[in-house]
Amino acid sequence: MTHAPIDCGSPANRDVLLDADVYYVCRRCTACCKWPGDVRLEDHEIPPIAAHLGLTVDEFIATHTRLRTNRKGLSLLEKDSHECIMLDGNHCRIHPVKPAQCRGFPNKWRVPGWRQVCEAEAVPLATARAMGLLAPDGSA
Ligand code: SF4
Ligand code: SF4
Repeated sequence: MTHAPIDCGSPANRDVLLDADVYYVCRRCTACCKWPGDVRLEDHEIPPIAAHLGLTVDEFIATHTRLRTNRKGLSLLEKDSHECIMLDGNHCRIHPVKPAQCRGFPNKWRVPGWRQVCEAEAVPLATARAMGLLAPDGSA
């Protein structure tokens, strides 16, 4: 029995592109930065983010993070509106060092109904490669 590719969920499939021929180019609509839920921080992502903000790791953890819902790691804090604490207008304050969870959406993980709100432009994968949007190893 074969299974269709899973079209949602994040941690398990962040290392693969979900579509073989299409790449979604983010248009910075910021919808995904406003969804309630965890913005997962992996341990190795914390020092560069803290440095980018001019904070020590301890200062960053104390002022910008909380436990994930499953209590198995850290998440960025959210504002009362549920948008990410790093969102400033339509600008991500940590864009050059943002977490893999952010970089991976929507090419590596998705949520049900994502296409109704995400304004990313679908381009052929070959075009995305030619535009330099993928790493040399093919990862996004
Ligand atoms: S870290 Fe940046 S890209 Fe990620 S959810 Fe927050 S504002 Fe959006
Ligand atoms: S919802 Fe889609 S287009 Fe909008 S910021 Fe997120 S990935 Fe980019």
